[in-house]
Amino acid sequence: MQTPLIDLRGIRKAYGGNDSPLVEVLRGIDLSIHAGEFVAIVGASGSGKSTLMNILGCLDRPTSGEYLFAGENVARLDSDELAWLRREAFGFVFQGYHLIPSGSAQENVEMPAIYAGTPAAERHARAAALLDRLGLASRTGNRPHQLSGGQQQRVSIARALMNGGHIILADEPTGALDSHSGAEVMTLLDELASQGHVVILITHDRDVAQRANRLIEIRDGLIISDTADAPSAPPRSARPGALQAVDLRQRLSVGSENTGAWKGELVDAVQAAWRVMWINRFRTALTLLGIVIGVASVVVMLAVGEGSKRQVMAQMGAFGSNIIYLSGAAPNPRTPPGIITLDDVAALAALPQVQRIMPVNGATAGVRFGNVDHTSYVGGNDTNFPVIFNWPVVEGRYFTQADEDTGAAVAVIGKKVRDKLLKDVADPIGQYILIENVPFQVLGVLAEKGSSSGDSDSDNRIAVPYSAASVRLFGNRNPEYVVIAAKDARKVKEAEQAIEQTMLHRHKDKKDFELTNNAAMIQAEARTQGTLSLMLGSIAAISLLVGGIGVMNIMLMTVRERTREIGIRMATGARQRDILRQFLTEAVMLSVIGGLAGIGLALLVGGVLLLSDVAVAFEWIAVFGAFGCALVTGVIFGFMPARKAARLDPVTALTSE
Ligand code: ADP
Ligand code: MG
Repeated sequence: MQTPLIDLRGIRKAYGGNDSPLVEVLRGIDLSIHAGEFVAIVGASGSGKSTLMNILGCLDRPTSGEYLFAGENVARLDSDELAWLRREAFGFVFQGYHLIPSGSAQENVEMPAIYAGTPAAERHARAAALLDRLGLASRTGNRPHQLSGGQQQRVSIARALMNGGHIILADEPTGALDSHSGAEVMTLLDELASQGHVVILITHDRDVAQRANRLIEIRDGLIISDTADAPSAPPRSARPGALQAVDLRQRLSVGSENTGAWKGELVDAVQAAWRVMWINRFRTALTLLGIVIGVASVVVMLAVGEGSKRQVMAQMGAFGSNIIYLSGAAPNPRTPPGIITLDDVAALAALPQVQRIMPVNGATAGVRFGNVDHTSYVGGNDTNFPVIFNWPVVEGRYFTQADEDTGAAVAVIGKKVRDKLLKDVADPIGQYILIENVPFQVLGVLAEKGSSSGDSDSDNRIAVPYSAASVRLFGNRNPEYVVIAAKDARKVKEAEQAIEQTMLHRHKDKKDFELTNNAAMIQAEARTQGTLSLMLGSIAAISLLVGGIGVMNIMLMTVRERTREIGIRMATGARQRDILRQFLTEAVMLSVIGGLAGIGLALLVGGVLLLSDVAVAFEWIAVFGAFGCALVTGVIFGFMPARKAARLDPVTALTSE
């Protein structure tokens, strides 16, 4: 005698045990089924038929007893191998159809082939052909709720046949159908049996059962009659023309076969994820707000921080970051500030670290033109001014060394002075203005600097020759301060030290002077900005965390709502890792959509801020960083629900409400 395809020996199944009463549903089933048989199992409701069916289909494991499939003990297969067996050998048809509600008829039928790794084109064609054969050619795009019960059941039969469906397990397939649709479904199963499929049909309808070649009756978990055991029955073996049973040895390639499948599965997972999101779009949008706001705030905050940093840097940098200022200072509160002399300046000019040096003899002074009065900073300085301050004239010219040598009463005025004092004059060049009642001729107008941080207004300035300032205005030849350009912007510290040494030496070791530089100011500013960014960053991180919890929440909800779907996917051959991948894909897609929406929102807000004159500088790194964070958050928070889904027991998932 041939090895039976299915051989059950002493199968028992009990539920409960610990806290609930122990119920033994199957109490020792011995049953063998050969290739090509059409078997009907009848019995009263509650007699254990579905339980037996779930064990036959490897959706459930018996409490005790042996299940040999084509001679091999199924108990020795791991969960991936069982998934392989389910998708290669079995096709399930349930009383409640068990279609995935969010998928079209076509997609439902294709699902088992996706897990089998069938190429997309072949899959589409085969599903379409099956639906056509079952009379549903015009319904391929309909979702289950747009189909009648009979049509849904035909879709589920097509799904059972998708991977071959060698063994069709039909649990009361006509139970929910009207008699006409029921008859149609029965005719189909009849046909399949005659084409060589093993059909195992559960029913409580004796008329339906009569169609089978073999009738098994079950009561209280025991087989009480089997027509195959009747003395008149012919000896049983595989019918001629029966479909070949699957080759169990192929399951060993179960790991490697995965390589072709992932692409189809990924596309399917993305499509499924998109559908579910779209169906629940309002809920999804609300839950995604966390991520959207998180990403948007990270991007905007960093952009605003960066923008203001750049602005400050630009203004400070306009005076050069290699500039050191030297001025007199009191060594302690009781002594007057020290005086820096032109001899000091000459000594410092000789230092190798010093590129340029320029004394400034200046003070705030009253200026007058016609009947306009104005107050401005007036500085006497040499011709280094435009170079050392990186400050060109935009009209007229700067005074020359000859002007300096002769102490000429000439002036170059800042933008603000031009605008305030000479506002009524078309051409300021050549005009005479009174500085402290001394007439000076305007030679040129300086370019606009913009105000650097705080109240000092660089553009309210008049530059006159040092000699003229000393003699004509202040009667004092000592500089108010000295501007020194270090040779190397990266070695400002060293230059500062050399200057300090020289000055201490010249001032008898008394530190009656003070050195400041832009680099230090820029660094201090950068530190402040850094702290600010860190603070803004943490706020943003918290909102991302909240967003992540949102993703987790929506994923937990979706796993709960779709437990049945998970069961269906498992019944059609999905492995745990397929389910894991599916739900992780959904979590990632949620985060991607949330992240993209966040970036969009950030750009929008940034645009509005720009229009309202806030300095905003978007940096790619910030945009990608925030997006990456959203993605990682989604994966981390989506993993737990996804794993929960993957670890569900197939029967439990399938029978859940
Ligand atoms: P049938 O399909 O023949 O109507 P079932 O196999 O579905 O019967 O159920 C047989 C018995 O097993 C029923 O009494 C039912 O209450 C019990 N049963 C089924 N599933 C479970 C379960 N998960 N936990 C406890 N009892 C169960
Ligand atoms: Mg049942």
